[in-house]
Amino acid sequence: MQVAPTGSLLIRQVRLWRGRGLPLSPPQDILIREGRVAATGDGLAAPEGSAVEEGRGRIVIPGLVEAHTHLGYSLLGLPWFRNEVGPALADKIQAEKDELRRRRIDPEKQSTRQLVRSAELGSTLLRGHVAIDTDVGLAPLEGVLRSRKACRGTIEVQTVAFPQAGLLSRPGTLELMEEALRLGADIVGGLDPSQIDRDPRGSLDMTFGLAERSAKPIDIHLHEPGELGAFSIELILERTRALGLQGRVMISHAFCLGDIGPAYAGRLGEMLAREQVAIMTTAPLARACPSLALLSSLGVIVCSGSDGVRDTWGPFNNADMLERAMLLAQRNGFRRDDDLELALDSCTFGGARALGVADYGLHEGARADLVLLTGETLADAIVSRSPNRTVVRQGRVIARHSEITAAAAA
Ligand SMILES: [Zn+2]
Repeated sequence: MQVAPTGSLLIRQVRLWRGRGLPLSPPQDILIREGRVAATGDGLAAPEGSAVEEGRGRIVIPGLVEAHTHLGYSLLGLPWFRNEVGPALADKIQAEKDELRRRRIDPEKQSTRQLVRSAELGSTLLRGHVAIDTDVGLAPLEGVLRSRKACRGTIEVQTVAFPQAGLLSRPGTLELMEEALRLGADIVGGLDPSQIDRDPRGSLDMTFGLAERSAKPIDIHLHEPGELGAFSIELILERTRALGLQGRVMISHAFCLGDIGPAYAGRLGEMLAREQVAIMTTAPLARACPSLALLSSLGVIVCSGSDGVRDTWGPFNNADMLERAMLLAQRNGFRRDDDLELALDSCTFGGARALGVADYGLHEGARADLVLLTGETLADAIVSRSPNRTVVRQGRVIARHSEITAAAAA
């Protein structure tokens, strides 16, 4: 899984999706050299020694972006976990700890299993939160960083140091967070400054202080509902503006945007757009959540993710970002083709913007991370979610029929 991008690949006869609002191109070829899109057009010649992939009229999109998941504690590949976990957040945190201890979960192995599964399904870029707390220390992060290195030819991974049990409220966590960022975590994580840390200003000042000292971006889990959550968003915006961190802050979940009414959500949306603070939504079925149509109409960067994949928190998520696009569409009451395209935008271009990746797309010079999908139209591809997907990472085919190739797995 560590092959460097070399050589060239010609993908024949695919229809290109270059972004929201643009029609699929007529069937044409894509030439990739040294891991970059070198040319697109009809009847391109394969350079000598180049690999050739027959597209057969399939749709090609840039790689799916898994903008929010958790790494290290997935139970993928392990016997089924019978979920009898209580309803409170504390129950869920405790259940995870108990199960990890009972099964002696190896974060590196479980992270690798999950990264491979994500890649097989078409994600080429992923942001994974890794729990940092005074019980587990830094061992999960160390395991995840090893698995990231091993999988770098398959998927690009950003890691978030995530103070899952609280930051300010748990003495010793701040020091562990500092150490996690020194070890190689890419992003400063945060969590409910009022509901968990019980001191919104103190908690956020600590999170933003970590970001300032480490010069790393921020990604805050915000589950707080209604006015409480909206107040936290205002405090986050205030700090983003004061510290000049535009484009470097993400709020994950932001359920409150779905239950404060459209007028207030619209005002916050305008501020989020101005400060380039991205919103990540999984489009949960059982909770209020941000409106994709409202946020995108205001120019807010919106991305999406699976959240935990097959873990003690819940059994449903499966790392499939094409399925996530469908769930986003359903949760937002979408039926129209252009709205389905908006949902997919959050799982592709929106995700890349939110994760700060600039060379993303199908234009000449873009990173050659892409997916071939089966479908008559883009909306059909989302709704059908065919497993007949071919995944290209850095110009190499790493999965066919949603299964990792032998060469990529070696
Ligand atoms: Zn999460």
